[in-house]
Amino acid sequence: MGYEPRRCPICGDPKTEMKEGREVFKRCYCEWEKGFHVRLARTVFKTYYEPKMKRMSDWKPPIYFPAKAGLFPSFIRMQKVVAVHRLWDYCYKDVGVGTWSALLRSVDEGRNLFVRGPKGSGRGLISACIKFVAAKMDISATPLPGDFDLFKNEILESKALGREGAEAKALVSEKYADVRLLVLEGCRAESIIKFSGEETPVKFRGSNEIDSLLARRQMTRGGMLLTSDDFIGQVSNTMGDRLLEVLASDDTRLVLMLSVDEANDLLAAVASKQKAMAEWVAAMGAFKAEKGPERKTAPEKMSEKGEFRMVEEALFFEDAFPNIPSDTLTGNRVGVMLDVGDGFPPCILSTYAAFKESRERKGAEYKEGIRAARVAAVRSCKSLASMMIEKEMEEVGRILSLAAGPQDRMDELAREATRMRAAMSAAPTREKGGNERAS
Ligand SMILES: [Zn+2]
Repeated sequence: MGYEPRRCPICGDPKTEMKEGREVFKRCYCEWEKGFHVRLARTVFKTYYEPKMKRMSDWKPPIYFPAKAGLFPSFIRMQKVVAVHRLWDYCYKDVGVGTWSALLRSVDEGRNLFVRGPKGSGRGLISACIKFVAAKMDISATPLPGDFDLFKNEILESKALGREGAEAKALVSEKYADVRLLVLEGCRAESIIKFSGEETPVKFRGSNEIDSLLARRQMTRGGMLLTSDDFIGQVSNTMGDRLLEVLASDDTRLVLMLSVDEANDLLAAVASKQKAMAEWVAAMGAFKAEKGPERKTAPEKMSEKGEFRMVEEALFFEDAFPNIPSDTLTGNRVGVMLDVGDGFPPCILSTYAAFKESRERKGAEYKEGIRAARVAAVRSCKSLASMMIEKEMEEVGRILSLAAGPQDRMDELAREATRMRAAMSAAPTREKGGNERAS
């Protein structure tokens, strides 16, 4: 009512406003932008924003090039699509307070993002882009370089007694505990090389300090961004119990990127699992037909032992992965594998009927069956599964399920991801006269 804010002579923005009957100062565009660049210089490598900033649209890791997509191109494609969706939810999405406000919500609610990708997967660019948003939204983040080896050194120094230890403790607090967004790049399991030349996981000497640092962060509910060459299962608890607990919890979302070779291994394992299941189910049907209805057939003996569960598993498997592409190494592809008809023993037929009913209802039981099938598929690839925790297997199984699903669903998700990426690559600073700003 008649209140005229003071304005900045340079940008014309109001420098004051009325709040609850009192005149308070606010930052004009020039001040906001200056602060933004100071924060950016503190947290993001120059190569990522000078002279020409790299953005999400520059995220083109070699594993995603079509020529290198390997035997399982739809998996490679879907893992990228899922990665974009995850980044969008964690950092960029508008959650009601303007573009990119998702990161504000993530740090306020103590959400974390774990990005696993092999060399050349663009993990550095992903974290630079997120830190960029942090600077824009005035969220404090771990200053450069945020590198895991340096973090470990500083943790160890903070164990020292006397003045040096006290100084190191203060530094650790400032860089890792008090920031709203903790960023650690290149996390790796702690290991030593044994006399035999084998690498053995060991507990890091500063793992107690990491435990208490993370406990402190859990109380203040800041966010965490971790990037790694390793899966969580490899890092395990070599860095303390708390890190594993945090990563395995629902507070942490995953971006998992497999190399082309890893995706090939996965396909080979899943295709051969599918083939084995199909052969087994076919054998169950054939037995009864051969032996006649009176005699106790081998499948019925199996059923008494509860092995008809394998049929159930096969049914869920086929629903979870309707279209596993042929593995060009072994030529495995068994078409629609389950046609449970009259030739099967009664217990199998009733298992089939129960499955069909549960699929109709799509209730908790059915969802659990699909989840278990996804995990079992990934578990069949022992080289990969041995590096993962169950949550990672679920996530990879989810991507696998999408990649072995209907083509139009894949196309739809990819189109959405393309739109998200375009929005992620929006202008770095507010254009003069624009209306978008972190307030
Ligand atoms: Zn100004």
